[in-house]
Amino acid sequence: MSKLPLTMRDLDPQHDFQKTIHLLESEVVLLREKNLKLTQHLDRHSQRHQEMERRLNLHPISGLPTHYRMDQDVPVLLDKWKENPSIKMAFLLIQLDSQYDMIKRTLKASVGEWILYQISERLREIAGEDGWLYHTRDNEFLLIRSFDSSMDFRTLKRVIGTKIAEPHLFSGFNLTLGSHTGVSQFPQDGYEKSSLLHYADVALGYAQEHKKQVAVYEAELEDRVIERMDLQNAIIKAIEAPALREISQQFELLFQPKVTLKSVEGSSLIVESVSAEMLMRWNHPTKGPVPPSRFIPVAEETGLIMPIGKWSLYQIVRRIQGWSGTALEKLVISINISPRQFRSSELVELLEKHLSENPELARQLVLEVTETSLFEDPFLAMKSLGDFNRLGLKVSVDDFGTGYSSLSHLHKFTLDEIKIDQSFVRGFPENPQDVAIIRSLVSIAKELNLNLVAEGVERADQVRELFHLGCRTIQGYVIAKPMSESDLSLFVENLSANNWVLKV
Ligand code: C2E
Ligand code: MG
Ligand code: MG
Repeated sequence: MSKLPLTMRDLDPQHDFQKTIHLLESEVVLLREKNLKLTQHLDRHSQRHQEMERRLNLHPISGLPTHYRMDQDVPVLLDKWKENPSIKMAFLLIQLDSQYDMIKRTLKASVGEWILYQISERLREIAGEDGWLYHTRDNEFLLIRSFDSSMDFRTLKRVIGTKIAEPHLFSGFNLTLGSHTGVSQFPQDGYEKSSLLHYADVALGYAQEHKKQVAVYEAELEDRVIERMDLQNAIIKAIEAPALREISQQFELLFQPKVTLKSVEGSSLIVESVSAEMLMRWNHPTKGPVPPSRFIPVAEETGLIMPIGKWSLYQIVRRIQGWSGTALEKLVISINISPRQFRSSELVELLEKHLSENPELARQLVLEVTETSLFEDPFLAMKSLGDFNRLGLKVSVDDFGTGYSSLSHLHKFTLDEIKIDQSFVRGFPENPQDVAIIRSLVSIAKELNLNLVAEGVERADQVRELFHLGCRTIQGYVIAKPMSESDLSLFVENLSANNWVLKV
């Protein structure tokens, strides 16, 4: 591009004057267009940023401040209150009971949303002018309010229970909802956010267990809650041992290779690196093989995914340890983490335990989480991702594009990889919409510095086109179907013997 502004010295005396003017004019038009594009880009960026800020701070359904906001506000408030010895505050952690989950599952989503909205309105009323109200989780609110002569502590407790239990009218339905509330008090129970929330949570657990509307924290409650957790753990352990034995007899682990390409030369793929995804198979004694698409959702729903996941993690850790000195040494393995596993703290504890025994493992494990896991509860997701990050584990987003995530939020999460869902690969490159989606995922991945994987790739022409667009990691039948550990070892040995060239 020529530099602007041009001076008279830049003008070529041989040129006729009209031509030079024309040149200048088109240069100006070009610059204006560029300027316009840049302004539009900046506008879009700033809109996205504002939208993200709004979503982080305000719950999309109730419009109330979120957990994120609460984390920022409460320490500031506490600092202020600490200076005034006459201030007494109640921290009320209010959780809707299982009736709400049932309504959400059985009726239209709009009914659940309407109920949430109505409840937040009622709580707003109780919070009043000088209370604070946060929508901390889908079914949970935190209300902070002073108790004084205008509303004493007992009245506050009563009002909470009755307000939420008032029926909700929804197009002819009369829905009644219960709730449990755990209460802690400032300054009696502590001066810090973490202790006040912890004590409110302990009281909430007690209220749920004893089917009480409201429970107020006392030191005794904590002992009882701990005792109950110990008992629960003991029961789980007693059931788990035989269940794990049964699982290991019927479940099998397969591996599907995933290759990152250096280049593509006709039907030869020059491989830069290879890794694999672990996939589970269930060989039922009478039903025969049951595909994961059928049993994983049931296991997820019933909670049985937890012992199954524990078993598969234990298996892969043991196998990886046995790979030293073989063709599979240092091979990176992706494991699928179901939404329930992702939400539970047990997964982090298990990973922590395995990694403390074998820290090297962190380099060989990638956790595949689904897009819905991330966006269902972004705050919880950020916490879990933070834990994985602390443990040195990489995270990949599976089946990307099938959920309702907003792409602009993706960069909020600490991620390493995204896997384009098979549904976009199936019609690629014939379907122009799939091409457009994959093209935009390539640019997002590049911008966020994420590895991009195409899964479900079945044809050689798809590999070439994907590589051409900038997606270099390929998984699918065109490379290999899921296989046993010994076949995976042969696959890697053959690849290395063929100078890392794969024929497709
Ligand atoms: P996923 O994680 O997206 O895994 C990819 C699925 O696509 C696998 O199905 C794989 O066999 C299949 N696939 C790979 N390449 C191709 C291809 O070229 N064409 C076609 N048509 N399919 C291909 P699979 O093994 O049936 O697993 C289905 C899903 O079940 C997985 O989807 C994953 O979400 C879940 N799953 C499997 N194993 C586990 C596990 O150990 N734990 C958990 N939580 N979920 C698992
Ligand atoms: Mg997967
Ligand atoms: Mg997938």
